[in-house]
Amino acid sequence: MAKLDAKKLHIATKAIHVGGHPDKETGAIMPPIYQTTTYAQASPGKHQGYEYSRCHNPTRTRLEECMASLENAKHGLVTASGLSATMLVMHALPEGSTILCGDDIYGGTYRMFTTVFHERHNFIFVDTTDLKTLKEKFEEHKPKAIWIETPTNPLLKITDIKKVTELAKKYKAMSFVDNTFMSPYFQKPLELGADVVMHSVTKFINGHSDVVGGAMMTNKTSFYKKVWTLQKSIGPTQSPFDSWLVLRGVKTLPIRMEAHQKNAMKVAMYLEAHADVESVVYPGLKSHPQHAIAKRQMSGFGGMITFFLKGDIKRSKKFLSKVKLFALAESLGGVESLIEHPAIMTHASVPKKVREEIGLKDNLIRLSVGIEHIDDLINDLDQAFKASKK
Ligand SMILES: *Cc1c(COP(=O)(O)O)cnc(C)c1O
Repeated sequence: MAKLDAKKLHIATKAIHVGGHPDKETGAIMPPIYQTTTYAQASPGKHQGYEYSRCHNPTRTRLEECMASLENAKHGLVTASGLSATMLVMHALPEGSTILCGDDIYGGTYRMFTTVFHERHNFIFVDTTDLKTLKEKFEEHKPKAIWIETPTNPLLKITDIKKVTELAKKYKAMSFVDNTFMSPYFQKPLELGADVVMHSVTKFINGHSDVVGGAMMTNKTSFYKKVWTLQKSIGPTQSPFDSWLVLRGVKTLPIRMEAHQKNAMKVAMYLEAHADVESVVYPGLKSHPQHAIAKRQMSGFGGMITFFLKGDIKRSKKFLSKVKLFALAESLGGVESLIEHPAIMTHASVPKKVREEIGLKDNLIRLSVGIEHIDDLINDLDQAFKASKK
């Protein structure tokens, strides 16, 4: 076989073939799991690029190549979890950096910034969808970096990546985008001007709820090298077996994302028409306040839906205990549908006062719509609405 020029391929082909090339030694179509700690050297210091698996592992290298190619990035680094990718980039920023940060972000990221890195950096939380206020914050604080998540978790607010990264460039601030919710199939932040994109590969990238992992991609070689050195020095690398599982899962990313969004659109429309629902937030709905930006910067709307149930927290709890197909669980992005209550579950680490300020109310329910048959999903929600009314 001759060598592929991956740059010319479509994302559906890259997801299968980049990093998925046949094994040189045996021709095995599936990549070997290099379950090894160390590598034999021909003479001291003379090796094939692999010395020790905390630093490099050939199975992980394949996944890094694949992740970089999906985001059209020069470099990709795969880490033990999404949060460890975030941790490494936070260490890579100079001590004492002022960082503007979205005010509605993944609860674990919020916890890391406010309880781990708050002594190293100065975080300023701001609604990154509000460009006017954001501009004022840039002017006032002259930050070193901006951290955005779009769509946000769980309110699904959309930040205009192009406009925000342009603003960041003007103030010489680095821009970071958590692209976990959209995956590179629907959104490519680097092409919209971001410096660094990160993922919890635990979610849509792997897609099968059987791995925890993370990744960060960038075109900035010096920043990549810094983060790689930090990974080597601190140690949050992914095991070869987990990298192998993600390599397998990511092959179907494009068809899974299509299926997620097809189902999510139908579920969102069903919810919007339901008498027991106060409101629905889904970027694909015309009622979404930033639907126009979503259409511009994303090529699809993803599988995540947030809705507000009519009634008090008791009704929400009852509804959540009556679903049969949707599993009541944290996490998202797997082929199976999940449902959760952010205020009690994923976002419990966000103080109640802050939750109320940003609109993360007690009747807010988050769905990760899977790829089951749509009728079964809607029937399940339907019976849970009825059963929770009694
Ligand atoms: C899950 C998640 C993370 C953290 O990733 P882990 O793999 O759980 O460490 C970060 N950002 C978003 C948007 C997530 O959903």
